[in-house]
Parts: sequence; structure tokens; C-alpha cells
Amino acid sequence: MAPYSIRVVGDPVLRQRAAEVTTIDGRLAKLAEDMLVTMYDAPGVGLAAPQVGVEKRFFVYDVGEGGRTLINPVITESDGEWTYEEGCLSVPGLSWDITRPKQVLLTGLDLDGNEVQVEADELLARCFQHEIDHLDGILLLERLDADTRRKAMRTIRDLGIGPSVLADAEPKPGGFSLP
Ligand code: ZN
Repeated sequence: MAPYSIRVVGDPVLRQRAAEVTTIDGRLAKLAEDMLVTMYDAPGVGLAAPQVGVEKRFFVYDVGEGGRTLINPVITESDGEWTYEEGCLSVPGLSWDITRPKQVLLTGLDLDGNEVQVEADELLARCFQHEIDHLDGILLLERLDADTRRKAMRTIRDLGIGPSVLADAEPKPGGFSLP
């Protein structure tokens, strides 16, 4: 069984900006390891700490090259444009075409506290942008245009995804908000 349950849309923790990681220690490493197990179990290619209720700026990912952790990640360069179908473990079972930069350069720290720079293209670049959005309290629904977002919210309600609080939520300009 996965060590964590993944928080879903409507959970306020997904709307918070997560705090910088200030201590990289064994506890953080264990947390990252448990997040990877949770991610593989889902299954997914990325999981950000807020998705398991931890308001810290790090995420785990694996796009086929083994599980890795990035701490305090920042995108320092981005280029191009790529539209691709994107889903989220916190909005289970749904996906949308979303346009994002195609390539990014990410700077962050690894679990040893060393600074790392990762050049990413296509799927990995998308994964990085999606996970950093989570650290900023942004869900992929906010990357949709207003019309698509309205439809998406209706679908989410109809499917009964997330806490009942969602039932009263209406999309607002610039991103939907929940009470
Ligand atoms: Zn996600």
C-alpha cells in the first residue's frame, strides 16, 4: 500500500504556496522515498510535496530514468511552446490539452544539498513546470482557458471528485477559488 494518500482537488493544501526547504536531512530523504512509492503506486511521473499534505518546496519524479528528487526548484530559462495532453494525480482520471514552454532549465538542490541544473525538454520539461505549479498552489485547471475550466469544474462535480466543498465552488477569473 502507498505510504500516503494523494490529496485531490478541493483540498486547501493544494492552494497554498509551499515554503522553501531549509533543512535537508534523513527525514526529508525518507519523505521523498515514501512519495516516490506513492507516485509509482498511483501511477504517475511526478508528485509534489503539497500533494501529500506537506507544504515544502520539493517534488519527486521519474520519466523513465529512475526516481529523483528536486528541492527548492526554480525555472531559470524557458523556450518554445508545446501543447500536450496533461493530467494530474490530484484531479484523477481527467486530462486536457495544455500549452507550456517546450524546454526549460531548472536549478535546484538534490537530497545531498548539492546544487543541480537540469535541462529538460518535452515530457520532463512539462513535468517540472507542472510540479512547480503545485509548489505555488496552482492546479492544472488554472492553465485552462475560462470556458474549458468551467466545463472541467462541472465534470469534476459530476464525477464527485474531491471534498463536497467543491459542490459550491464556481470558477473565478484568473483561477477557480474554493471557500
Ligand atoms: Zn499534479
